[in-house]
Amino acid sequence: MLRSRLATDLGRLALNLRFAWYGPTRAVFEELDPVAWERTGHDPVRLLEQCGDQLDAAARRPGYAARVQDAAEELATYLDADDTWYARSGGDASRVVAYYSAEFALADCLHTYSGGLGVLAGDHLRSASDLGIPLVGIGLAYRDGYFLQRLDASGWQHAEPARNDFHRAPVSPVVGADGQRLTVEVPIGDGRVVAQAWHVAVGRISLYLLDTDVEANLPHHRDITGQLYGGDDDLRLRQELVLGVGGARLLEALGVEVAVHHLNEGHAAFAGLERLRTHLRAGADLPAAIEQVRRELVFTTHTPVPAGHDEFGWDLAAYHLGPLAGELQVDFPALWQLATAPGEERWSQTVLALALAGRANGVARLHGEVSRRMWARLWPDRAVDDVPIGHVTNGVHPGLWVGPELAALFDARLGDDWRAGEGPAVWQDVAKIEPAMLWGTHVRARRRLVGEARDRLATQRRRLGVGTDGRGLDPDALTIGFARRFATYKRATLLAHDLDRLAAILGDDERPVQVLVAGKAHPRDDAGKHLIQHLVGLSRDPRLKGRLVFLEGYDLDLARSLVAGVDVWLNNPLRPLEASGTSGMKAAMNGVLNLSILDGWWDEAVADLAPHAEVGFGWAIGDREEGGDEHARAAADADALYRLLAEQLVPTFYDRDHDGVPHRWVTMMRDAIGLLAPTFSTHRMVGDYVTGAYRLVPARSEAV
Ligand SMILES: *Cc1c(COP(=O)(O)O)cnc(C)c1O
Repeated sequence: MLRSRLATDLGRLALNLRFAWYGPTRAVFEELDPVAWERTGHDPVRLLEQCGDQLDAAARRPGYAARVQDAAEELATYLDADDTWYARSGGDASRVVAYYSAEFALADCLHTYSGGLGVLAGDHLRSASDLGIPLVGIGLAYRDGYFLQRLDASGWQHAEPARNDFHRAPVSPVVGADGQRLTVEVPIGDGRVVAQAWHVAVGRISLYLLDTDVEANLPHHRDITGQLYGGDDDLRLRQELVLGVGGARLLEALGVEVAVHHLNEGHAAFAGLERLRTHLRAGADLPAAIEQVRRELVFTTHTPVPAGHDEFGWDLAAYHLGPLAGELQVDFPALWQLATAPGEERWSQTVLALALAGRANGVARLHGEVSRRMWARLWPDRAVDDVPIGHVTNGVHPGLWVGPELAALFDARLGDDWRAGEGPAVWQDVAKIEPAMLWGTHVRARRRLVGEARDRLATQRRRLGVGTDGRGLDPDALTIGFARRFATYKRATLLAHDLDRLAAILGDDERPVQVLVAGKAHPRDDAGKHLIQHLVGLSRDPRLKGRLVFLEGYDLDLARSLVAGVDVWLNNPLRPLEASGTSGMKAAMNGVLNLSILDGWWDEAVADLAPHAEVGFGWAIGDREEGGDEHARAAADADALYRLLAEQLVPTFYDRDHDGVPHRWVTMMRDAIGLLAPTFSTHRMVGDYVTGAYRLVPARSEAV
């Protein structure tokens, strides 16, 4: 009896991804079998498969069954709540938003993301759930996610497949009224591609992942959802047709009436064509149908880096889009014109999305400006400031990103509201937390991180036979984190610009400093792989005393430990190429101080909020310089970085009172949490989308 109740409760908890961001639920899975929890990559479905015969013992463990039952009841209450932020603010529950994204970071066990875009999309769903927004997600069910990173003895990155097995994951097949798998068809080049779908419960939100690995498809179409960002332009185009057209058709097949389609990046732009088809079929002519689509389409652009904007040549586009153009009864050249900038001969997903969206935005204030300049050529008769691209600054989800040590402190001192509540008032009481308490909590997070880093490094050294084993790391040293994709504009090796100066800062035995680095280079980006190799080489350089280490396999799990456990988060991109950046927001929510170039979110954080700080919540490297010679820029930025470290960070961190607490530093930590957490939360961001875009789509002339 007890056992079956326990199995039912655990099964329910396993099938809702809220476990991934709600610590108390995650804890009941971990407690069931900590070793199996690690071995399954934090997959509760496989955990329960493997631990079936342990349930009797678990049911007899003091308090366990009660904790599971509490968690199950808490989830049921969460799912049923009707006093959500959206309801309280007069939101219309029937105005459903469809949110399309090529990647979603959902849980450690689902390899359905590559980096920041996916993390943002996942946090968007998590906050939409917490705030009660009527939203459904659309994505792709990749058989292989973005790769697992393995370094060889020389520090060269190798890519191993990151397999998804949707039959043994916290997802369910989508079936129709007849009990059979529901499918949709997408016209593509040489045939019709059939896609089935998987349902993922993300709290209150339903996410549907389309999957072309079905028997009815030709082999090369079965493989469309074979790999995240794999293959060439041909595959990318077919993936995007499945995402955009297949996604919109799936929602129709499910009977979901969508008021707003939100395209997270140009990957999903074909959803606009599918909406166009619907309005044309209802009798509108092309200009009228475009106007109608604009009333329901929101588009977010995510990068000023040209390679981040998908483009296709005429032949490829004409071939694959020909059948869809036929269904629209529009000549292909008319579509081509919609998707190409004046005088350019490439189909651009961004141009198409901008042509069809009633609301378009960048992801930070500065990125909004940069995007208006970048796309001004599409509106030759307008001043740059009047280009209709606004901004909604990104955020991160507090429940997912605040580490367990601090989360427990927040639970005790801020009440539940910090997880799901919106607005600065929620975070006000951070100012009342005693410095020694906040510091002690952070030190525990740092010590856990250093322990995990040592374990990872020791395992890596056993495998490779060379490298540091992490003994150079000190759990009490000033710890700097740098983790991100190894795109060249992020300048991962800037800190090592002048090795003597770096060695002098790290090597002081009285006031040690250490650096933890992580990140993946794209499998085809050899320049990025060389940067990783260079850093791995430095980790073995005796001058740095083992105080700079490279941690393999950057992912959600490692990111969570890093942003909670380091003291400083370093960010040194080439301004203005970091559209927003979100890892620094995760760090700030954990009281970690940012040391960053004034780019992306940090530019506006410093401009708007630094004046309200008691002491300050971090440091700016340089002063908004842009352009010029890249080498000179790097030398100047590195110089500023070393000066800040030596003259400000190290002295402040090691200036301790008689209790060993660095008072000024802790005041900065409180400023970071109190001022930055409410603003750079996805609760604020999703709220901005609701009030500034979802409710008001048809406002082409104004920016968001
Ligand atoms: C947050 C996050 C990112 C994005 O970080 P940026 O600061 O935008 O570079 C990338 N990868 C993972 C695993 C993350 O958690």
